[in-house]
Amino acid sequence: MSDIIFLGTGGDSYVVGRQIRASGGIILQIGDDQYHIDPGPGALSMAKETGINLRANTALFVTHNHINHCNDINAVIDAMTYSGFDKKGVLVANNTVINGSLNYQPFLQKYYRGFLERFIVLEEGGKVGINDVEVKAMKAKHSEPNAIGFKFITPDFTLAYTGDTAYSAENLADYENSDVLILNVPCLKKEESKDNLCKGDAVNIIKKVNPKLAIITHFGINFLKADPLYEIREIQKETNCQVIAATDGMVINPVSYAVEQGQKTLYKYAKKEGIRLHEFKQQEEKVREINEMIEEKQTELGNENSENDSIENT
Ligand SMILES: [Zn+2]
Repeated sequence: MSDIIFLGTGGDSYVVGRQIRASGGIILQIGDDQYHIDPGPGALSMAKETGINLRANTALFVTHNHINHCNDINAVIDAMTYSGFDKKGVLVANNTVINGSLNYQPFLQKYYRGFLERFIVLEEGGKVGINDVEVKAMKAKHSEPNAIGFKFITPDFTLAYTGDTAYSAENLADYENSDVLILNVPCLKKEESKDNLCKGDAVNIIKKVNPKLAIITHFGINFLKADPLYEIREIQKETNCQVIAATDGMVINPVSYAVEQGQKTLYKYAKKEGIRLHEFKQQEEKVREINEMIEEKQTELGNENSENDSIENT
């Protein structure tokens, strides 16, 4: 039995900052193993909401050292090991998460690292075997220079998770031969970011990889305002592929592709999103009103100044 459970589907800092969508990462259950991928802010509370026992985590996977991907890494290690009382689990992460870099302190603290049985740094092209599963680090092109994606090759299915990346033809070979392809697509339009995928990029990738199922997640505010369901239907039409938009708490069987919503509490959680999005729009209107007021004041001041100037000049 295998399941993919979304503890979060939020992408950009607007969505994550206001928790319009959650950001706790993705759980991958394969037989007795439970992998936790990219545990961002709120991973513990989302695990509670979805009925996921983090004590059952056997491995953690982190693609890069950005806050929405690894903020809760130490909290999750603490939860899964009872503060190191039960030293267990493997962490597989990119170099920045574990060792930091010129511009980044590593999110992983040495103290919590000591609670793990093992930690492994993976660079693109690197591989690691955990029981029956082979995990490959895929190329990524992101603002965090060591960012990677993960490909999980299991006896029953192959799942590729892009992590955060811009579109690059060089990445495509890594995505090939995946049954399930999870794409982080925060942007609707290309101009929104040079470091991330947009809707058009997703179309190009899905067309070339042709997975049995493509899952779009990591939504930014423009994608949510536009309505992911509508956008995803368009991607589906253009690619001729089964494509779904992930939602918080969504459970997907990677073998049968059956989709269901998680525990009952999540229904409430999903409903709240509409309210949060509405609140965000209202806030945006308020900001616009304030900006207009400031502009008016400035033009008034500008007029006064030019009047004063003219008085001075004469
Ligand atoms: Zn990132």
